[in-house]
Amino acid sequence: MKYFQVAQGVWGMRIYLVNVFMIANRRGAARGWVLVDAGIKGAASKIIAMAEALFGPGTKPAAIILTHGHPDHTGALPELLKYWDVPVYAHHMELPYLTGRSSYPPADPEVGGGLMSLMSWIWRTKPLNISRNVREIDLYDGIPELPEWKVVHTPGHTPGHISLFFPLNTTLIAGDAFTTTEAESALSVLTYHKKVSGPPKYFTTDWIAAAKSVRKLAALQPRIAATGHGGVMRGKELSAGLNLLANRFESIAVPQSGRYVGHGAVADENGVRYIPPYTGTLKRNAAVAAAATILGFLLVRKAAKVWG
Ligand SMILES: [Zn+2]
Ligand SMILES: [Zn+2]
Repeated sequence: MKYFQVAQGVWGMRIYLVNVFMIANRRGAARGWVLVDAGIKGAASKIIAMAEALFGPGTKPAAIILTHGHPDHTGALPELLKYWDVPVYAHHMELPYLTGRSSYPPADPEVGGGLMSLMSWIWRTKPLNISRNVREIDLYDGIPELPEWKVVHTPGHTPGHISLFFPLNTTLIAGDAFTTTEAESALSVLTYHKKVSGPPKYFTTDWIAAAKSVRKLAALQPRIAATGHGGVMRGKELSAGLNLLANRFESIAVPQSGRYVGHGAVADENGVRYIPPYTGTLKRNAAVAAAATILGFLLVRKAAKVWG
């Protein structure tokens, strides 16, 4: 188990190409720490081991905060909640996907590839239901278990996607609002090449909102950014990359064509309301998706051996 430091009081760990984060809370009623995102199914024991290494045996987070509800960020949640019965905070627009009310729109197979094709293995057909633990984030007051951090609504990748920002040292946890690796490039994934990139294309269902969200985050001028996929970025490397992405989002991040390009999926408080019709050539894409999935799987197995 290898974890890394993001900033003072913030640590992260990559579990099969998806990061989870732990933040120590320095003030507030509930001193202690929170977990941000919960990795893929099967990651619970690694998350618990990291927590115990950082905070001591038998430790338990004050809360779990979700940047969004995708299965690569919530896969281990049902197992973790058996062990840690704590509140799970999410934006109200994300609640339908966490309370069994709605499934996410289908992935866009035309823009898949790289590590994202692997996700088709773990993509849930049934929505997650953690109603007993889930709490809506109060956007005005923030999260009581993490009072010093600001919650920023950054929709686009998903309707209720949030990012977390610590103004004192301008640390940003951006979830999948943007990434620091080209998630669709198998080579980038394998070599862990760092580059400020858009949200993972395969599962992003509103590109217009996604562009606005990246501009909102760039305006915060973070000096440290940790994302759901890719390594931590800092200083000039981050500001140059993030400003470029914000200024030229349409050419850098948005796919040239795809199911959600031009007209995104529409969602409200009850979940998905409209999904654009699929107009791609299904036969070719099915073959490409299958090939990409196999390639992705092999690469991840190889990567797992290299990095343990
Ligand atoms: Zn995601
Ligand atoms: Zn993700």
